[in-house]
Amino acid sequence: MSRVIVVGAGINGITAAIALRKRGHNAVLVDPGPLPHPLAASTDISKAVRAAYGADKEYTELAERSISLWRKWNIEFGVELYHEIGVMFVRQQKMKPGDFEYESFKTLEQRGHKIERMNSAQLWKQFPAWDPERYQDGVLELEAGYVESGCVVTTLIERAKSAGIELRESARFSKLDEGDDRVKGIVLDDGQRISGDVVVVAVGAWTPYVLPFTQKFFRATGQPVFHLKPRQPELFAPERFPVFGADISMTGYYGFPLNREGIVKIARHGTGREMSPDSPNRTVTPQEEENFREFLSLTFPTLSDAPIVYTRVCMYCDTNDGHFWIAPDPERPGLIVATGDNGHGFKFAPVLGEIIADAVEEKSNPLLQKFRWRPEVLLGSGTDVARFRADA
Ligand SMILES: Cc1cc2nc3c(=O)[nH]c(=O)nc-3n(C[C@H](O)[C@H](O)[C@H](O)COP(=O)(O)OP(=O)(O)OC[C@H]3O[C@@H](n4cnc5c(N)ncnc54)[C@H](O)[C@@H]3O)c2cc1C
Repeated sequence: MSRVIVVGAGINGITAAIALRKRGHNAVLVDPGPLPHPLAASTDISKAVRAAYGADKEYTELAERSISLWRKWNIEFGVELYHEIGVMFVRQQKMKPGDFEYESFKTLEQRGHKIERMNSAQLWKQFPAWDPERYQDGVLELEAGYVESGCVVTTLIERAKSAGIELRESARFSKLDEGDDRVKGIVLDDGQRISGDVVVVAVGAWTPYVLPFTQKFFRATGQPVFHLKPRQPELFAPERFPVFGADISMTGYYGFPLNREGIVKIARHGTGREMSPDSPNRTVTPQEEENFREFLSLTFPTLSDAPIVYTRVCMYCDTNDGHFWIAPDPERPGLIVATGDNGHGFKFAPVLGEIIADAVEEKSNPLLQKFRWRPEVLLGSGTDVARFRADA
């Protein structure tokens, strides 16, 4: 049994702490709080959950496992946090091999998923908010949907407390406490030391700022998010308006149906703006809002003048190949870094903790090869293609 310090109580940290505790370790979870932290990527009203991952079978398979566990969590927690209302990725042009949508369609079809090809006027009639002329083709994944991610974190924090995890809210990691041959704990910003056998740093977009030696691998980017109050809410009810990606590799926009509070959330996935999660510039710019209005008028005409009731800049921790990074630092034994969400990690909440716990225990797990420490993948050497393979 080890004492493991988990830094950061977003979805990576909280699920890691729970999985480690289940395996008999003592877990200490450290976050400046309040939890769920308002600036964390995980703290949000919704995150898409889908198995559509282009031709990437590993993420598809991981998402399939996650989806079946999300259903179980709904029962186990006694509250519907996962809403299986469907997710569609649609295009303005006909899909063709190599497109994210086409490859997702093929992979999901081969794996026996319940899907529809969105290329008939009849099908589009079910979704009247969409401009029927503009979008022609795509894939609708029926056994997919969204989770209320902030509520998921809140629920898991309660679970962590009852599982005996030592929760250190109001504690801010400042640096690693490095011994001669391995990391022996952490130092908080008030100088207090917490000792542990292993340190898992799971601070999302804060990673390149709190561990400056990782700046070569990670880039924190801000992405704009908008909440709208539709004037015709009935058009945006979940059965008429599934979670969508609207030609996401071209426009970047994706969104969610009306929630309980009557809000439609639409966000843009893209290169984003590099910034610290604590930056005072973490606000949506007039240009981003103008671009958003233009997208609305082309895609959802009835939303084009809907009031924007809230905006937010949500932070990704990008890696250059679009893959997660759950790996021991070869130069600092005792340190595991678990991040690199690239804007698509939340859906895997039910399986993330197990993967991170395998990394801590040095257990064999084929995914840890994909998510390995990979200094060869330097920022700036890739293309944007990887980013759009793994959107939302
Ligand atoms: C706009 C947007 C849309 C997204 N949409 C989707 C989606 O639809 N589907 C999907 O699957 N995923 C989506 N994601 C990705 C998902 O949100 C992330 O994969 C996930 O939330 C990352 O969790 P995390 O735990 O790594 O980081 P975070 O949730 O950011 O948590 C990091 C934690 O670290 C803490 N921390 C920071 N500094 C310190 C410190 N010094 N000491 C201690 N703790 C610290 C913070 O307080 C915070 O609680 C989206 C992300 C964004 C930004």
